[in-house]
Amino acid sequence: MKPTLVLVGRPNVGKSTLFNRLTKSRDALVADFPGLTRDRHYGHGKVGSKDYLVVDTGGFEPVVKEGILHEMARQTLQAVDEADVVLFLVDARQGLAPQDKQIADQLRKTGRKVWLAVNKAEGMRRDVVTAEFFELGLGDPLAISAAHGDGLRELIDLVLADF
Ligand code: GDP
Ligand code: MG
Repeated sequence: MKPTLVLVGRPNVGKSTLFNRLTKSRDALVADFPGLTRDRHYGHGKVGSKDYLVVDTGGFEPVVKEGILHEMARQTLQAVDEADVVLFLVDARQGLAPQDKQIADQLRKTGRKVWLAVNKAEGMRRDVVTAEFFELGLGDPLAISAAHGDGLRELIDLVLADF
């Protein structure tokens, strides 16, 4: 069985760009499995010798509205639950946002191992880019650029090391 990676993060951090990049090597198979909601896109990919399935979640709205967790967040948490690898994206250009902290808290509650990737880091110094994100308490942030492909091989090798 191929491991499944799920991409989570607030809107605009580059989840879909990363999804496209990670699935491109296999004819960009963006397969919406029958029976699943439109919020979740599944695709196959391969980097080096590693085969995997990627899930692009539609978004993450961690705010509780009148006691009911938003449907999107529910979907995302379900995708997190079902995945082998959880990849949390943040935005190097925007910096640490309040919503990032909320999502980090939500993810922490799941008890899952979470990998933190700082996207849009092309042309920026790795240590400068990652510094403020240690605060999320999710370990070493990994600097990547989904748009340019920087750091993606290293990212995949790392997160799939046990698969
Ligand atoms: P999503 O909402 O998390 O799925 O984010 P998108 O993939 O739709 O990307 C949001 C915006 O960020 C788009 O304008 C992308 O072109 C841009 N973007 C994504 N990845 C990168 C990156 O690595 N570097 C830069 N500079 N922009 C990026
Ligand atoms: Mg998207």
